[in-house]
Amino acid sequence: MPADSQTTAEVLLPLALAGAYTYAVPQGLAVAPGDYVEVPLGPRSYIGCVWRIGSGDGGGKTLREIVQKFDVPPLGDTHRAFIDWVANYYIEPIGNVLRSCLRAPGAFGEARSEIAYRIGPHRPAKLTPQRARILEIAREGPALKASELAELAGVGTSVVKTLAKTGALEAVALPPHRAFATPDPAAGKLALSPEQEAAAQELRAIVTRRGHKVMLLDGVTGSGKTEVYFEAMAAAFASGRQVLLLLPEIALTQQFIQRVERRFGAEPARWHSGMRPRERERVWRAVAEGTAQVVVGARSALFLPWAKLGLIVVDEEHEGAYKQEDGVPYHARDMAIVYGALGKFPIVLSSATPSLESLVNAERGRYGHVRLHARYRQAELPPSHILDMRQLALSSGSWLSEPLAQAVEETLKNGDQALLFLNRRGYAPLTLCRACGHRIDCPNCAASLVEHRFRKQLMCHHCGHTQAIPPECPKCGTPGKLVPCGPGVERLAEEAAQRFPEARLAILSSDLAQGTLLKDALRDVAEGVHNLVIGTQLVAKGHHFPHLTLVGVVDADLALDSGDPRAGERSWAQMAQVAGRAGRGEKPGRALIQTYQPEHPLMQALAKGDRDGFLAQEKHLREEAELPPYGQLAAIVISGRDGHETERFARALLPLAPYGEGVHVLGPAPAPLHLVRGLYRWRYLVKARRGINVQAFIRAWLTTVKPTGSLRLAIDVDPYSFL
Ligand code: ADP
Ligand code: ZN
Repeated sequence: MPADSQTTAEVLLPLALAGAYTYAVPQGLAVAPGDYVEVPLGPRSYIGCVWRIGSGDGGGKTLREIVQKFDVPPLGDTHRAFIDWVANYYIEPIGNVLRSCLRAPGAFGEARSEIAYRIGPHRPAKLTPQRARILEIAREGPALKASELAELAGVGTSVVKTLAKTGALEAVALPPHRAFATPDPAAGKLALSPEQEAAAQELRAIVTRRGHKVMLLDGVTGSGKTEVYFEAMAAAFASGRQVLLLLPEIALTQQFIQRVERRFGAEPARWHSGMRPRERERVWRAVAEGTAQVVVGARSALFLPWAKLGLIVVDEEHEGAYKQEDGVPYHARDMAIVYGALGKFPIVLSSATPSLESLVNAERGRYGHVRLHARYRQAELPPSHILDMRQLALSSGSWLSEPLAQAVEETLKNGDQALLFLNRRGYAPLTLCRACGHRIDCPNCAASLVEHRFRKQLMCHHCGHTQAIPPECPKCGTPGKLVPCGPGVERLAEEAAQRFPEARLAILSSDLAQGTLLKDALRDVAEGVHNLVIGTQLVAKGHHFPHLTLVGVVDADLALDSGDPRAGERSWAQMAQVAGRAGRGEKPGRALIQTYQPEHPLMQALAKGDRDGFLAQEKHLREEAELPPYGQLAAIVISGRDGHETERFARALLPLAPYGEGVHVLGPAPAPLHLVRGLYRWRYLVKARRGINVQAFIRAWLTTVKPTGSLRLAIDVDPYSFL
């Protein structure tokens, strides 16, 4: 080794960088790959992760030194390989992927001397809006660290420190994090039915064998899939491994968490987007130390720094919510499978309506397929009846046909609960002028504004723009001629309140209920406080409402006609899931489905309960068109403030596309939603045969392209949104 050689470390930073930066390792500091370190970059310092160790002379440049190494368990080999894999697959700067793993900066602090602030005895001399926000938050709740208070109030930490000096905030020492209890595999175990036991046996065997294998747990709603995968989890705990139970964010309810707690006699750790920083820290550290053995989390929990992960269960694996649309556009189910392959452990995918992707993999023998055919304790799957709306005239401003209204009436009279499903938020999706035909659109988006009568405003569902409902038409100026067109849940609730004045009505939509409010509402529905529920897709997802015996689908045609290759599959899943909410308790349920296309294969399949027939047809269509899972897709979206410039830039990319055997570049075309938040959007779709390295093709095409100004180029491998 030459005399001036020194130990160097390539440190990956949580920034939009395509690679690691090299730093000098100071004398006397021992670092290894996976260690978290503080390093300087420009005028700031960052927490990064050591990716590789090397030695050299820095290529003639003086290298900056690592400032310190943190006393945190290092990021494991599997996890680092996983980060590399995700970055490569999604053509994403690797630093952005690392950022997903470092979502608890407080976890790197000194564990012992933590200071938090609560409201103090004095009022500050000058109450700026920033200070007022901080004090308001401090008054409400538990003591928070300066960084947390600052983050919640959207201000800098210096404001917090100043308030503390003046006595408006009071410093207190934080107790150490509460430890997570160890789950007991045998606590709360239910006696399984023979069918459930056989399924559980298969899963347990795979977990005990500790190899990588994907198991599709495919069972009708209410068949006890949850109880069955609990058995797989129990087997993982018994062998000392950690378990991640992934759920779509919306299904992470108190009710569900309590069920996990009852089963394993220990409260599981939770991970989702709405967590307080200190709780995030607690979970992050406990996962890294291996003391949190079970995490129930939304998709980002995949990126927690797992110490000894031995099983991932992906519940409702068909859910579109597993695809992240902003930031790194990853699909959590697919990446869970990748993680399992890298870490050599099994994955359980659970659903009553599995995705076509998973079903095809099961058919090809790449996944194991475990089926549950019967509902637990002979509860019947609700039969679906199709209501042909062409035959059933609706009076104007009414959306419920006579047969559906009568069914609701009977249900309420019997003391049972009914659900009317309409996947449309707000009061009315369109507002038109009856004098001139003008439609009120969003000023920033190519979309019409949705009336929200409850909030007394018009709102854009794409950018969040809101405005008051104008008294006259903004185009022709005629007063009193603006009319709402079509129904949303609020309007449907109006009709329901008129028709069923005695009903105890609840509306469940993301506008009206979020956070604790939503949790309370869902609990009230489950407990039968309400007997008539009107809801959007919020209610279709995995909830257990034991009193529900009738489900009415108000407009089954809504999701069908879109340019999305998965529209049929998704509509099927939604209908089957929402119908599956009925009859989960003691009494049988039924579903009534209103449609103007009763001869559509989807409606026919629903009426006959013929899932396999419908999916066989969908598979055939996808295979013909070489769409996933029979081919690969990637979307390229170009956006910019100036319509012409965006178009020109998008078009100029086409001649740069390399020739690729088995690859088709479709476009550019204006995106269906060609204006969002004031940005014009153009799209390419890259279609490739299976087995082709579509990432290499896109890299060869686009790495030298550098959008300037407001222009942006976004790559979405395996897109789920086609807007
Ligand atoms: P799925 O996940 O397939 O929709 P669940 O696991 O939620 O079904 O089961 C539906 C209902 O039946 C739940 O209330 C559950 O507690 C109950 N259940 C399922 N299996 C059993 C069992 N073996 N013993 C007692 N109750 C069960
Ligand atoms: Zn808008």
